[in-house]
Amino acid sequence: MTSQALPPRPALHPETVAVTVGRPARVVDAPLNTPVTFAATYVGDHDTASGSLGYGRNGNPTWQALEDGIGALEGGRALTFSSGMAAAHAVLDLLESGSTIVLPDNCYLGVASAVDARAARDGWTVRKVDVADTDAVLAAAAGADLVWVESPTNPTIDVADLPAIGSALAGRVRLVVDNTFATPLLQQPLATGADIVLHAVTKFIAGHSDVLLGALVVRESDDETYQLLDGVRRSRGATPGTMEAYLALRGLRTLPLRLERAQANAQVLAERLASHPAVLRVRFPGLPTDPGHVRAAATMAGFGSLISIDLADAVTADAFVDAARLWVFATSLGGVESSFERRRRWAGELPTVPEGLVRLSVGIEHVEDLWADLAEALDSLPTTAQLNTAAVQTIRPVAAGGQ
Ligand code: PLP
Repeated sequence: MTSQALPPRPALHPETVAVTVGRPARVVDAPLNTPVTFAATYVGDHDTASGSLGYGRNGNPTWQALEDGIGALEGGRALTFSSGMAAAHAVLDLLESGSTIVLPDNCYLGVASAVDARAARDGWTVRKVDVADTDAVLAAAAGADLVWVESPTNPTIDVADLPAIGSALAGRVRLVVDNTFATPLLQQPLATGADIVLHAVTKFIAGHSDVLLGALVVRESDDETYQLLDGVRRSRGATPGTMEAYLALRGLRTLPLRLERAQANAQVLAERLASHPAVLRVRFPGLPTDPGHVRAAATMAGFGSLISIDLADAVTADAFVDAARLWVFATSLGGVESSFERRRRWAGELPTVPEGLVRLSVGIEHVEDLWADLAEALDSLPTTAQLNTAAVQTIRPVAAGGQ
């Protein structure tokens, strides 16, 4: 029989990539998915210094499968780390003493405080800007060594113009984008000029609130940055756990489905929250009234599933989260379950975040159950006039943490 060349196929859709990427070769009776490999050391090769892996800090087949998955969805080459913060520190480790870094004035507090601490120690100049103000970002980038953008931001849900920033900075200043909130399904910053993409894999990618992991992704062609970051990972030992990598790849398989449902829920909830009298402001780019709406509609494939609402003050916000029964009062985000928290309960949260801001991570439950719980909690709130303002003074933030 003459073999006929098969016609080329179009590129796979992300939903298919998420399910199929990182599988081992199809061999009869071999596992369909990459199994967990527990190995601190690998059998070496006498003719070379060791085999290609050698030691557990250098690599692992289970991380590799996850890296293939995240890399394929972001359109680059991924390195996984023990947490999102370990990945963030690996990027910061690329900066010398005396460097200048541009940072969002609203961004994840762990990154903001890590940068401030490094700046104090290493004599960095930190220029803080509103990432939604593209002109301000570009002006601050002049002469800088690194521009760090998070979009949408945690917890104020500001949206940056990543294509405009990326094209203006390409080849001039290293641009890092924390893509945790959008996931690679809603935007792929490498394609619009970013040099490094960061993920707290802990959140949407793993998706079940049971794993801590991080990832950095660089362009396929940028072997130099890949090697630098890999070097930091090896020397710091900031390597992912094998079991965590396995769970995160399992989570990645359903990311498109989870995100689709969570986004649809978020849209409905944001619209209803916007018309509740106790809610002063809803921050969600899916609402036409949101300052980030037009930009997000033009640059993202969806509006995500994080909503922040401004309530009157800390007392009202705390009463709200205490009154809900289905929503879980917890830090972190991106899991299948809906959770929320008042962000300023953390002492480290940025003062630009209002005291009464509650961040909601919308999950995949039935939207009517989610709304019934929120509506009941909101309806139970005292009006501003009934609040004892003295109580506001007594609320003390929690010393550490906040994700
Ligand atoms: N980036 C963002 C936007 C985050 O929200 C977080 C954690 O909340 C991180 C990075 C850090 O990730 P991890 O908690 O996995 O260290």
